[in-house]
Amino acid sequence: MNQDGIYCDPDCPICNSSHRETAEKIWRDGDPYDKARADKVVSHLSGFGEKYSREVVLNHCASHLGAGTMELRKLEYIRKLCDMASVRLTTLDRLEFVMSAVSERLLAAGAISATSGMSEFEAEALRSKLTNQLARTSSSLFSLHAQLEREMEEEGQIIKINRDVMKRAFDKAISESKNERERELINSLLGEMGGSQL
Ligand SMILES: [Zn+2]
Repeated sequence: MNQDGIYCDPDCPICNSSHRETAEKIWRDGDPYDKARADKVVSHLSGFGEKYSREVVLNHCASHLGAGTMELRKLEYIRKLCDMASVRLTTLDRLEFVMSAVSERLLAAGAISATSGMSEFEAEALRSKLTNQLARTSSSLFSLHAQLEREMEEEGQIIKINRDVMKRAFDKAISESKNERERELINSLLGEMGGSQL
């Protein structure tokens, strides 16, 4: 492509002709069903002393005419896709980060135990309260996550998002949980998220 965004094949004499523009105009203005359409371009150019065969003209008009605009449009489209994807990816990344933070907090909440000044009853009440809060937070995060992924799919995004990232985060949390109580908490949270298909 030259600096004007017009496609230019170095081996095509018409691409490199100084009468390219007028020759292409004759082609564009011509009737697509007119068999003499290419001949009109040939005779136009021969008027300037440029003698090209019908085949050369046809090849140029079929392969090079308007190719620049097409290339530019393609580039523009790809650029837009990349912009969109990077924004979405960042959003998803952040969301995934927050979600794993929530699962960590959940482990911590499960580990709350009765200490001096706190009875086992009070500790259990605190655990339940925190777990419910975290479960609610996670639930909305999960649906936000799923929604973002759906939007990306619908827009035909070419960049693949690992939809198992959060599942793995929770699996890891389960495998690292220190006792039955922690596993229970994580499993119940996963159960609440059944609707989010993760
Ligand atoms: Zn050409």
